[in-house]
Amino acid sequence: MTTLEKNNIDWANIGFGYMKTDYRYVYNFKNGKWDEGTLTTDENIIMNECACVLQYAQTCFEGMKAYRTADGRVVCFRPDLNAKRMADTCKRLEMAVLPEEKFINAVVETVKNNLDFVPPYGSGASLYLRPYMFGINPVMGVKPANEFQFRVFASPVGPYFKGAAKGISLRVPDFDRAAPHGTGHVKAGLNYAMSLHAIVDAHNQGFNENMYLDSATRTKVEETGGANIIFVTKDNTVVTPKSNTILPSITRRSLMYVAEHYLGLKTEEREVLFTEVKDMKECALCGTAAVISPVARVVNKGEEIIFPEGSNGMGEITKKLYDTLLGIQFGTIEAPEGWIKEIA
Ligand SMILES: *Cc1c(COP(=O)(O)O)cnc(C)c1O
Repeated sequence: MTTLEKNNIDWANIGFGYMKTDYRYVYNFKNGKWDEGTLTTDENIIMNECACVLQYAQTCFEGMKAYRTADGRVVCFRPDLNAKRMADTCKRLEMAVLPEEKFINAVVETVKNNLDFVPPYGSGASLYLRPYMFGINPVMGVKPANEFQFRVFASPVGPYFKGAAKGISLRVPDFDRAAPHGTGHVKAGLNYAMSLHAIVDAHNQGFNENMYLDSATRTKVEETGGANIIFVTKDNTVVTPKSNTILPSITRRSLMYVAEHYLGLKTEEREVLFTEVKDMKECALCGTAAVISPVARVVNKGEEIIFPEGSNGMGEITKKLYDTLLGIQFGTIEAPEGWIKEIA
């Protein structure tokens, strides 16, 4: 993109989509070790027809953002946690683990070399970063690759849900999103591939997303396709489902900390039965992409649950959580030690 084109991006109106930026960072793993890593302008990847990622979906990713702060710095939020979570995912998928310092270096270099794409403070947009890894050598029998490529690219993004200010709608599908038991807790491409049917079906029926229940008993709230869920009870306790088949959202972990230490609220991470949902005062999705999106409505077959506060913008507690978290990310509220990584 030319400088003129970059200057003409309508930051306030971009959605959540892919925009090609100037540079991406690449590391290759071969013969048991990672290479030096390099920046490239080439957004295309050429690989063998029998690459493990193409045949057996050996691939995983992370999602994070770089923010332009009120005083003009460029920062990212808790990248160490993304590095650690990707390492956990890679171990589960029998992939090589990229050391944390290489992960952070790739993120920092990608942002530093795409600074024109970091949206201005106050535009509501940010620079989404997508670290990902895949098995690249050919394998025929079912086994993991032994050569991997790790990449980070960047793309400016706006809100994940169109019209989220008015509250989004969820439905409980009457089938599981993926293979039952224990795959939901890794950020792996295969989990997303398996959930595409559920999301297309939800959209076709007029819902923004799915509220998945645990596949073993179908009585407990898990999460949505790409975001965890938080509830606020009538006595202002912030509750989030505890489950080892949901993805440990960094946004959710941060919000629970903010609720307790910045807002002085009671918090609970525990099993949440679907039958409790109708008694909750507020409900919201949280994740890097979704940020905090208030839920207005949840439908489970014939039953409809309405969150009146979510339908008129955010509920009171959701709004406080949102303002505090975004204040920390955009540099207007002091962050806990180690949460903010300054890039430029
Ligand atoms: C990425 C993701 C989330 C959100 O995690 P964050 O670290 O907050 O971005 C939640 N659920 C699933 C399934 C995810 O893939």
